[in-house]
Amino acid sequence: MGVSTRLPRRQFDCLVLGAGGAGLRAALQLADGDAHVAVVSKVFPTRSHTVAAQGGVNAALGNVLPDSWHWHMYDTVKGGDYLGDQDAIEYLCRAASRLVIELEHYGVPFSRIDDGRIYQRKFGGQSQNFGGEQAARTCAAADRTGHAILHALYQQNIRAKTHFFDEFFAIDLLRDAAGNTLGALVLEIETGELLVIESKTTLIATGGAGRMYRTSTNALINTGDGLAIALRAGLPLQDMEFIQFHPTGLAGLGVLITEGARGEGGYLVNGRGERFMEHYAPHARDLASRDVVSRAIHMEVSEGRGCGPRGDYVELKLDHLGDDMIRKRLPGIRDTVLRFAHVDPARSPIPVYPTAHYIMGGIPTNRFGQVVAPERHGPEEPQPGLYAVGECACVSVHGANRLGGNSLLDIIVFGRAAGNHILAALKEQRYHRPLPGEAVERALERVWRWERPGGESVEALGAELRQVMERYCGVFRTQDVLDEGVRRVREIRERLAHAGLRDQSRVFNTARIEALELENLVEVALATVVSAAARHESRGAHSRVDYPERDDRHWLKHTLYLRAGEVIDYKPVRMKPLTVDSFPPVARVY
Ligand code: FAD
Repeated sequence: MGVSTRLPRRQFDCLVLGAGGAGLRAALQLADGDAHVAVVSKVFPTRSHTVAAQGGVNAALGNVLPDSWHWHMYDTVKGGDYLGDQDAIEYLCRAASRLVIELEHYGVPFSRIDDGRIYQRKFGGQSQNFGGEQAARTCAAADRTGHAILHALYQQNIRAKTHFFDEFFAIDLLRDAAGNTLGALVLEIETGELLVIESKTTLIATGGAGRMYRTSTNALINTGDGLAIALRAGLPLQDMEFIQFHPTGLAGLGVLITEGARGEGGYLVNGRGERFMEHYAPHARDLASRDVVSRAIHMEVSEGRGCGPRGDYVELKLDHLGDDMIRKRLPGIRDTVLRFAHVDPARSPIPVYPTAHYIMGGIPTNRFGQVVAPERHGPEEPQPGLYAVGECACVSVHGANRLGGNSLLDIIVFGRAAGNHILAALKEQRYHRPLPGEAVERALERVWRWERPGGESVEALGAELRQVMERYCGVFRTQDVLDEGVRRVREIRERLAHAGLRDQSRVFNTARIEALELENLVEVALATVVSAAARHESRGAHSRVDYPERDDRHWLKHTLYLRAGEVIDYKPVRMKPLTVDSFPPVARVY
């Protein structure tokens, strides 16, 4: 009798991996639709990274300045440097207002304007009338919007009786030979006990992988687990070369200072006190899209116009806004800056520098959240029973560069859409498919592999990976540097395969989890740097010094990376929206 048959088992209609905004929004739709749904999360749900989102969520409510979903769509297509799929973008922007109001009804305490309607702030890349004056589209709960949304969604899930497995770590998907996803093997972090969760449908909502970089706005938990799980299941990852570097991380630390700080009137200065964004984006200035502002800061510093004794950062000025305004609209930022930079933003400028923030790429899906993959060089097909939503997915609405405020929107819009699609799919699939023992045995090998004592320290390999990614796959890229990055990440992967956990008698589960996370992170880093080395143009967040122009003739296409053989393939961008005319690529100026 195989070990797999002796493991405890649970059965659900749907298994959701991840309790961030994406997983919780999907789970709520399912539980309210009377599905039997389980949510597995490696941290307590309200500690998921969505909690850290500061600035807000986009919707063309038009409460502060005139707005329309169509303008929002235009800005999103342009912000993504025309790589986003326009059917999904139309769906996102059209749904936004209704779903933000729904959040309000779920209990999200949005900030208010004087007449009581939801407060909206200005964010980067937003315009009125297809590229005209600055818009104000980002609905904010002070600078703690993600916190407010995550808590409201969690409470709604408790009401709807969603079943939570808190502090359980997903190891791998369980799939049969025909490619049906039948659930996942998970590990209870506190006890180290394994559990097989069988499900008719599975949704991956495990968030981003920002921790592959040394300086990052992301929490330690953002290790790309779901992305690596997809790769090991033989699925591709899409557009992984597009990593967003947020312009304003606290210099040297990476802690985020929300774009909302510039939306409220803050601005950047270089070491000469100049508002340098006027040269790079004469119209939008400090509220140009993130890739543009990050490159500008990088240029100022590398050309000797930085601030501080080493000239290695620029400064964000908020002091002219006044103490009252900062305390009202940016209380969290004030706390962060006081605590980490020992600076009072009402008196002194804040030292900032670009920092890894968000991955535009991920598990390819359609706008119903179904994971899609090419069938043996044929057209892509939905994978039976498998869905992905949120930062780990690539639907693709963010294209080559995400606009601030569009990720919180992405997770609620596509979380809900996936929930609805799963409810319909469950009507067709009433019974659990048989789970082959080999599927569980394969997943178990991943856990047992770490029962071996070993040589190199996992922690040191992790630190090395983060440095390599920062140095060889950063804001500006060249072929030589990327090729060297590929070589180094491959070498780290090889060394990790021979590493172990030293003194097995004293290994805590947390050490095992750290090792499993690093395995995931290395796979995602390799996907990122291999995809970046293959794209010979500059588009959005992918800035090639050796190919400085966008090249629509050859590169207006999505990258697909497959783990087996590190193969790169491409697929077309869906330029046709659902009901309106498409926005054809034009030069992108701000
Ligand atoms: P997450 O919220 O990261 O949740 C992932 C979940 O997966 C967690 O529950 C985690 O426990 C679970 N998980 C992961 N791996 C495993 C595993 N192996 N086993 C079990 N569980 C697992 N976007 C905006 O639109 N507006 C903003 O103002 C904004 N501010 C931001 C500020 C910061 C500092 C950062 C870093 C990002 C910000 N973003 C913002 C981006 C946005 O917050 C995220 O992209 C979004 O919240 C991701 O949600 P998610 O549900 O996909 O993932």
